[in-house]
This record gives sequence, structure tokens and C-alpha cells, in this order.
Amino acid sequence: MGKLDWQDLEFASGRYTRLRRRSRRWHLTFLLTALLAIPLLAAAGALPYPVVRNLLVAAFAIGFLGQWSGTLITWSALTRFPCPRCGRRFIMIWWSSWPTDRCKHSGLNLSPSAVARARENGGVELS
Ligand SMILES: [Zn+2]
Repeated sequence: MGKLDWQDLEFASGRYTRLRRRSRRWHLTFLLTALLAIPLLAAAGALPYPVVRNLLVAAFAIGFLGQWSGTLITWSALTRFPCPRCGRRFIMIWWSSWPTDRCKHSGLNLSPSAVARARENGGVELS
């Protein structure tokens, strides 16, 4: 079989790492928003001014929906990331979608150390 060029591997690794980092950030901010929801909404509910209370709840709801949308969009992009070796979805397998540095199908490693090894070897085997 042929080889996957190390430049292609480096490009895919950078793209995957950025996508994974972005997805992780959206997940964390979504989780923080969800954790802050209960005390903030309880505090807003205790306010004596209904207009201010409704505005705060509406602003929070819009922010929450934005966070949820960002999380969903980045997660969807991460699950659709194609493996440069086998072409299948890099992190998706029937029992797991947990993002790792290794392809769940072909075992291709996209970590920076694996890319450095591939650079020394001129690429990785496609099979
Ligand atoms: Zn693969």
C-alpha cells in the first residue's frame, strides 16, 4: 500500500486539534451556563420588578440557546471529521463518540508526537 504524506497528516492533525479544542470550550461553557442557571434564575425570580425579571430570564434563555447551538454545531463537526487514512468518521464508532487522538477504525494517530514521527519517516502507511 501507499503512504499518507506527513504534510497531509500534519494538516489533518491541526484541523482535528482545533476542532476538538473548540468543541471542548463550547461544552465547558454550556456546562457552566447550565450550572449557573438555577441560582441566577432563582435570584431573578426574587426580584420585585417583573419587567426586570422577565428581561433577565429572556436574556439568559437567549444565551443558553446560543450556548446549546454552539455546542451542537461544534460537536456535529467533530463527529463528521473524516479520517485521512480510512475516510470514515474519526471519532465515531457504534458504541462511542468520545474524541481521542486515534481513529476508532484504522488506529491512525493524529497527536503532535505521532505527526513528528511521521515527519521523520516521511509519512504513515495507508493500510
Ligand atoms: Zn481511520
